[in-house]
Amino acid sequence: VIALAHDAVAYPLPEGHRFPLGRYARLRRHVETWPEVEVRDARAATDDELLRAHTPAYLARAVAGALSPRERAALGLPWSPQLVERARRSVGATVDAAGIALRQGVAANLGGGTHHAFPDAGRGFCMFNDVVCAVRALREAGRVRHVLVVDLDVHQGDGTHAALAGGDEATCLSVNGGRNYPFRRVPGDVEADLADGTGDDEYLATVASLLDRALRRAAPDLCVYLAGADPYRGDRLGRLALTREGLRARDALVRDAMRARGVPVCLTLAGGYADPIEDTIAINAATVALFAGRAGGTEAPPGAGGSVAG
Ligand SMILES: [Zn+2]
Repeated sequence: VIALAHDAVAYPLPEGHRFPLGRYARLRRHVETWPEVEVRDARAATDDELLRAHTPAYLARAVAGALSPRERAALGLPWSPQLVERARRSVGATVDAAGIALRQGVAANLGGGTHHAFPDAGRGFCMFNDVVCAVRALREAGRVRHVLVVDLDVHQGDGTHAALAGGDEATCLSVNGGRNYPFRRVPGDVEADLADGTGDDEYLATVASLLDRALRRAAPDLCVYLAGADPYRGDRLGRLALTREGLRARDALVRDAMRARGVPVCLTLAGGYADPIEDTIAINAATVALFAGRAGGTEAPPGAGGSVAG
């Protein structure tokens, strides 16, 4: 399986900032050792690609560092030229992974899933919306007609919904922590809000039923899966209570539902804020391993202290 990485460019982040920037490079170094995965550096998305999802005015402000103080606060990451370059590469990774998935059945971005980015605003650590850019790039190229976005990050993909929900381009499936960010919602197409503390059984039943509903609504040519690690019970921002086994069962539900219908999958990893960060990396690694067909893929990355189970 080909996996595209966007971690080659680092950007400055203040000490103690809650965005876990280090997880991407560490995940890459881990999965790079697997024979089942070929890691490639992502290219930067062009302005034309970004303009499929964003207004010219927002793109110009974002690239030039001309965001207002309010916009900077909503984004939650300090602006730098490197931040823009890295965000471009994250979009390039999803656009290219989606194209590769159409040929090979599955491909991954070892990041991406920046679903809080709106057409005219970056929010919640998301500068550009990679999924919207990818859906539109493939549609314009005539390679897909309809895409299923399966967003299982614990936070609602409000920016993606603003661009795609209710339209012909995509069906937006979303399972959210009901009391979690964003507090002003943008409705998706097939969606559920779960109570704080929801565990594996209820979560998995919800995902299965929504997948069934979404697949009866429309026959997708591609699934873009946001395999957020943040429904995990050890996540600092998640508020749900899934175990590692539950997250793995969730990933298998998505894989099997798409496989049964011959729908290719573009995997993205979206959010993950576990303490310690090794838990997020291990969850991400297990997801990549599952989609790469790696047997026994749940082993933890170096430094995870052997806390693999649960
Ligand atoms: Zn999230």
